Amino acid sequence: MDINQQCKLCQNGLETRDHVFVCCEFTRAIWRKLMAWIKWPIYTLDSWDTHLKWIIEKARGNTLTAQLFKLMYAECSHAVWIERNHKFFKDKIRNLEHIAKEVAYMCYMRAHKAISSRLQQLSFI
Ligand SMILES: [Zn+2]
Repeated sequence: MDINQQCKLCQNGLETRDHVFVCCEFTRAIWRKLMAWIKWPIYTLDSWDTHLKWIIEKARGNTLTAQLFKLMYAECSHAVWIERNHKFFKDKIRNLEHIAKEVAYMCYMRAHKAISSRLQQLSFI
């Protein structure tokens, strides 16, 4: 079968795990918006190994920050994959600002009270 292996989100790379979740400019742009929202330093990931180390470091423990990161990481990864499928099956892609806001909203809605209170103090720009 002749399958187009180009990234559905940016059309600029092979659609691999590494590309879609780490190197894709579309995914990176969403992450940059989310990191700005929670006022964390923007960190550009360049490889899957670096990505894994970053996840493990940020998700370690049960602090509010770690819980927020786990929630945001899960929601962002899910949103990226849904958007990829949306593009693949419907040939439509939404504005990344809209997707990032939707991720922020989902994090707020799914968070327990301590985290949602913390998120409520932040404004999404
Ligand atoms: Zn891409």
